[in-house]
This record gives sequence, structure tokens and C-alpha cells, in this order.
Amino acid sequence: MELVSGRWSNWSGGVRCKPRQVMAPREEVELAAAIRTARGCVRAPGTGHSFTPICTSDDTLLDLSAFQGLAGVNHEAQSATFRAATPLWAVGPALHAQGYALANMGDIDRQTVAGVVATGTHGTGRSLGSLSAQVTGFRLICADGEVLRCSASENSEIFDLGRVSIGTFGVMSEITLRVLPAYKLVEHNFALPIEELFERLDSLIVENRHFEFFWFPYANTAVCKSLNLSTAEAPAPRTAEQMYARGEVSGSFDMRTFIAINEVLPFAPFLLEGAHRLCSRLMPGPDKVRWSYEIFPSPRTVRFNEMEYAVAFEDGPACLKQIVDQIRAKRINTGFPIEYRIVKGDDIALSPFYGRDSATIAVHQYRKVDTTALFSACEEIFKQFGGRPHWGKRHSRTAADLAQIYPQYERFVGMREKLDPRGRFLNAHLRALFT
Ligand SMILES: Cc1cc2nc3c(=O)[nH]c(=O)nc-3n(C[C@H](O)[C@H](O)[C@H](O)COP(=O)(O)OP(=O)(O)OC[C@H]3O[C@@H](n4cnc5c(N)ncnc54)[C@H](O)[C@@H]3O)c2cc1C
Repeated sequence: MELVSGRWSNWSGGVRCKPRQVMAPREEVELAAAIRTARGCVRAPGTGHSFTPICTSDDTLLDLSAFQGLAGVNHEAQSATFRAATPLWAVGPALHAQGYALANMGDIDRQTVAGVVATGTHGTGRSLGSLSAQVTGFRLICADGEVLRCSASENSEIFDLGRVSIGTFGVMSEITLRVLPAYKLVEHNFALPIEELFERLDSLIVENRHFEFFWFPYANTAVCKSLNLSTAEAPAPRTAEQMYARGEVSGSFDMRTFIAINEVLPFAPFLLEGAHRLCSRLMPGPDKVRWSYEIFPSPRTVRFNEMEYAVAFEDGPACLKQIVDQIRAKRINTGFPIEYRIVKGDDIALSPFYGRDSATIAVHQYRKVDTTALFSACEEIFKQFGGRPHWGKRHSRTAADLAQIYPQYERFVGMREKLDPRGRFLNAHLRALFT
């Protein structure tokens, strides 16, 4: 964990804290002792890729960087156990060496396994759930230092509720995920006029294992991406070191142009239409075939802040159209596209996908640009559609809102209080949401 002048910061730079101490246990038993003896509020950040203050503490931060690597594979159950702070860029190569892969991944591979599980991080695909939905077990260190094994057969209620717990139940030391035999994907990138996209959207979602699109809201073109299984030849699989390095350099989309556009746009709103048309033309990358773990993530080197909501699958198109109408009507200045994805419903209490297949709609704002105008206009619309916020992305919902939009909210809060009655894992943001 990197502190600069004693301060921890998230990826976008929008969330900071100054912990009084950082504890870096090396073994589970040391982790349990650290939690038991730590002062004040105890938080365990992953790699800080959340835009909300869900990792911060001015008292104790836990540095879990010693908790990395594949701990074991269960071939019969088709599952793999990772130490909680394993970065996703190391997960793919480790699984590939055993003949396996994750069923789905999100846009990047910089986060940790525990970080993505804690927030319900997802990719896209009509028949595919979030990463939390792939969890079959975890080891949880509770506030009093007790270590619990949680799965459908042991501590099943904690397992049931704790697969998306934003780190409020305790600290996970290991997580077991369902895996598939290793597979290759073919990536196809293409542009469609917006009207045609909406006409064909249902079939694009059904006919492709993964489908998503980006819409620069002042342009009339969707930048589409599909991924499907392939048996075609692919280059040799990348190692963990190569995966790490690849995520730190810009991808096919010309990042220098994109940064320049985002630096200029706030002072030149008359360029919005032209810039969005140009970006829509530049963004589609080349088609390719690669092993799945290499295809899912793309480098994201231009820093931004983000809001994302999950709405019912069938409400997605109407919600997105209202958002774009609103951005245009209010002439909101943004240099980023809106991202639209699909996630299968699940049964995890605080998952944004609880009980319903969902469409996720994400809006982004360049890190130097104030997010208020864009995010508040969009959030009003998300609320009207009964949307649920991504836990790691900006929102302004209250505990009362959450109790309304999550049918299992009270049950979750009850378990959180039972596991951590003194609220040692709660910072101010989490205390406001979960007490
Ligand atoms: C560029 C970018 C792209 C993204 N793409 C996607 C995407 O495609 N799909 C998507 O859904 N989200 C996406 N996100 C959001 C991101 O996946 C989530 O915010 C995720 O939680 C970040 O993981 P992290 O390892 O950085 O965890 P952090 O942000 O550091 O922490 C997240 C939460 O996990 C908890 N936590 C971490 N370790 C443990 C542990 N050992 N035990 C218990 N709790 C723990 C933390 O306390 C915190 O509450 C993206 C974010 C960025 C910045």
C-alpha cells in the first residue's frame, strides 16, 4: 500500500485519508491479531479503485499485500481459492496454468479479488452474474479476531449475506470462486447508428456471450463490443508480469487525443458535438482472438470519476435515452461516453442485481472536472427507474433509500451488527449507510 506524505488516496484522487497507523500482517493469525488490537476504525483497502469512501480510515488501515496468490484448486468442484488481495491481473495467468478461467470479468484487471467481491463488480453478459455471484466460499476475520469459514454449508447465513458486504462484516483472507475450463474469446468492435442499435439491442444481447456499448452523448453513434467463444488460433498466453505491464500503458484508443479533448472541453463547450463524433470514430479497436483473461480487461490510463446504477433489464433503454436527453437539454459538459452493460440477476442481499436481471448504465467525468451537474442530473433519473447504485461508484443514497431498494437490507444490517457490534469496521460513510 502506497502512502504519500502519510496519506492514502484512491485511484481517481477524489477520496483521501490520513491513517494514524498502517498494519501489514503477513499471515492470517497476524491479521486476526492486528484486527483485535487495532485502534479505532479499521479498514482494509484493495487497490483503491472505488470512487466512494468505502476504504478510508483516519485510524487504522490494513495493508494486505502479503495476501496474494492462488491457494488451491478443487478440480471436482471446479473452483479455485485465492488469497484475498490477489490482483486480477495475476488471477488469469494463475488459473490458465491450471486449465481454468473466470466465467466473466469487468473492464479492468487492476483490482483485488476481495475488492471486486466486496462491491459486486461485474462485466457484461445476459447469462452471467457479477464476480460476487461466482463466490462459493471465503474465510472471514471478524472484529474480535475470530476466523470463520463461510460457504453454503458452513456459516451459511454469513456466506449468503456476506458475498457483497463492502468490507463491513470483517476482513476476508481467502476467497473461493467458481471457474470454467480455460477458453478463448473473439472480440468484435463496431459502430452502429443509435436508432439501429436500439432496434437490434435485444438480439445483440441474446446472440452474443458478452455485449456492451458506449455512447458519447452528443454523437449519434454507438461504439459496440461483442465477445464470443472461439477456437481460432491465439497468440501465446500472457504471463502475470505481462498482464500487469499491459494494463499500465494506453490501449488502442488514442489516449493522448482523449486527454487533450478532456482538457479542452470544459473551456470550449461549443466543441462537444465535434469531439464526441471524433471519439466515436476513434474508439473502436481492432478485432482479435485471445484467451479470455486477456480480452476482458482494457487499459484505463485516463483518470475519471464514475457513477453507475443497475436498473431492471427491460428498463435499460428507456433509462439511457432519458439520461442522454437530459445531458443534451442541460448542455452538461463531459468528454466521456456512457457505458451500457447487462448482468444476470442473483440472490445476494446487497447485490445491485438482487432478484432481477439488470442493465447497468455508467456515466464518467474527467478527474479534473466537477461531477455535480452530470451526476446529480443522472441520479434523479436512476432513482425514477428504481436503480441501485454500484457500491464502489459515486452515489448520494441514504440508509432510508437503501432500505427501500434492497428487500434484504434489514437482514443485512442485523447480521452486520451481530458480527461487529461496536462498528469497528465502519467509517463515517459506512456508518451512515449501515446502522
Ligand atoms: C478504471 C476503473 C474501471 C472499473 N471497471 C469496473 C467494471 O468493469 N465493473 C465494475 O463493476 N466495477 C468497475 N470498477 C469499480 C471497481 O471494480 C470496484 O470499485 C472494486 O471494488 C475495486 O476493487 P479494489 O481492489 O480497488 O478495492 P477497493 O476499492 O480498494 O475496496 C473496495 C471495498 O473492498 C473492501 N475490501 C478490500 N479488501 C478486502 C478484504 N480483504 N476483506 C474485506 N473487504 C475488503 C474495501 O474495504 C472496500 O470496502 C472500476 C473502477 C475503476 C477505477
